[in-house]
Amino acid sequence: MPEQGFRITYATMSADNEELHKLYDRGIEVARSWLGQKHPFYVNGEPREGSGYKEVRSPIDHDIVIGEFAQATREDVRDAIAVAKAFSTEWGNTPWQERIAIVRRAADLITERRYELAALMAMEVGKNRLEALGDVEESADLLRWNCNEMEKHNGFTTPMQSLGSPGEYYDMLRPYGVWAVISPFNFPMALAAGPSSGALVAGNCVVFKPAHMGVFTGLKLYEAYRDAGLPAGAFQFLSGPGSVVGDEIVNHPDVGGITFTGSYEVGMGIYKGFAKDFPKPVICEMGGKNPTIVSDKADLDKATDGVLRSAFGFGGQKCSANSRVYVHRNVYDEFLRLLKEKTEKIKVGNPLEKDVYLGPVIDENALATFEEAAAEARKNGRIITGGERLTEGEYAKGNYVQPTIVEVPLDSWVWKKELFVPLVAVAPYDDLDEAIRLANDTEYGLTAGFYSEDRAEIDRWLNSIEAGVIYVNRRAGATTGAWPGVQPFGGWKGSGTTGKAGGGPYYVTQYMREQSRTVIEE
Ligand code: NAP
Repeated sequence: MPEQGFRITYATMSADNEELHKLYDRGIEVARSWLGQKHPFYVNGEPREGSGYKEVRSPIDHDIVIGEFAQATREDVRDAIAVAKAFSTEWGNTPWQERIAIVRRAADLITERRYELAALMAMEVGKNRLEALGDVEESADLLRWNCNEMEKHNGFTTPMQSLGSPGEYYDMLRPYGVWAVISPFNFPMALAAGPSSGALVAGNCVVFKPAHMGVFTGLKLYEAYRDAGLPAGAFQFLSGPGSVVGDEIVNHPDVGGITFTGSYEVGMGIYKGFAKDFPKPVICEMGGKNPTIVSDKADLDKATDGVLRSAFGFGGQKCSANSRVYVHRNVYDEFLRLLKEKTEKIKVGNPLEKDVYLGPVIDENALATFEEAAAEARKNGRIITGGERLTEGEYAKGNYVQPTIVEVPLDSWVWKKELFVPLVAVAPYDDLDEAIRLANDTEYGLTAGFYSEDRAEIDRWLNSIEAGVIYVNRRAGATTGAWPGVQPFGGWKGSGTTGKAGGGPYYVTQYMREQSRTVIEE
């Protein structure tokens, strides 16, 4: 198999890999054959149609029907939770070695299917080839990471000391029972795969609701678990609106814990409202307004490459996207010149084409946000490059915009609000401490980047920046591109509720609670 040789990560993929593109072309053909069909959701492995089907169209071209997806009702959700609860004792007591064997098989299936899954994701949410492949392969690696954590820690069972009476004294981490996973559109596989596999290897039964954009990719994750031999009771797949399916899950007393990844507004509501009668764990991974600082001691070629990739990769629609850049005044003009030059070379278009870097934004709301931010820059600042929607010719049927750099006053809302579009704001600074203060002046704290060749400056920044994932001098991305086992991913402040990161050493334990066991034998 030719693909065995590739190790795919965001940082290592190269766009001129011909063999990879050939395999991807085949993946596109397979994914195309899946389009336009009706898809039920699954409760205990049984297909259901809920209140009927809802059509999903591609942001690339509104004539492309991704499929019709059955919409679960509140009653379907209650049934799914009841099934998960009924199976939770059995799954929780299945030896962890058996659980991880199934999840590892699912990871291998995802890898085996990666080209068609990536092509489907590209059609569904508009990711370019390499970003979509990265999302799929990251998903497989998140499953593997969570399995390895269980193994490394011997299933989190630790012998304890005995005092007096002979017997067994040990400490275990035990699952919560039913664990809900609600995922966002922008990493429709990875941010469902990481939480669901964490919950499953820990011994919880999962009730999963994907975002309405990204639902087909979510269904493909369900299929990978199912085909790997996961028992039907352990994983419930529910498609349907957040306001119905999500709301019913969040408010159901039998859901023992939840991982939500999505916007600050929805996430904070869940964080405040999830636990009602007694405390329950809530993992909310939320938005970002991620800053980069470029010092006058930076390598500007590296810095502009890194900022470009993080500002415009997947159209700025990553929680880790770089939307604010503070540049030392001494190098400000040169930085802008280089960034503008590189930005104007970006190819915008159908992300299934191999030379396209920037695909469409997800929907009409994103287009409106883009236009509001561009209008604000025109009114109160200036547009360095871009600023326009693309509506002619090949762009006419999709949600396309130009990659955009703006200068706006530091008190503009553009510096505060998470925009989730390919638009980055830049400003000059005179003093590093002031730049760090500005970078930290946000309710968010997800990722941050810094460029300087001066070690003392680097240490100053490392020790004072308020974010969970931070990068120095990274050409592959100023603020984006984390990988499980390489850069654990989680937010501080309004970006995350737990201070623990996916793909890191403290992740899986969040899906379990401690039980100290004493069995006297005399
Ligand atoms: P979103 O609108 O908040 O939706 C996220 C999920 O929540 C979707 O499945 C959505 O379902 C569901 N939902 C909506 N309303 C709900 C409710 N009242 N109760 C329960 N669930 C509800 O976010 P998005 O637009 O999909 O994703 C973008 C956001 O995610 C950005 O803010 C981004 O920064 C954040 N994000 C954070 C991370 C991280 O790791 N920190 C990673 C990726 C993305 P529907 O789609 O059916 O409405």
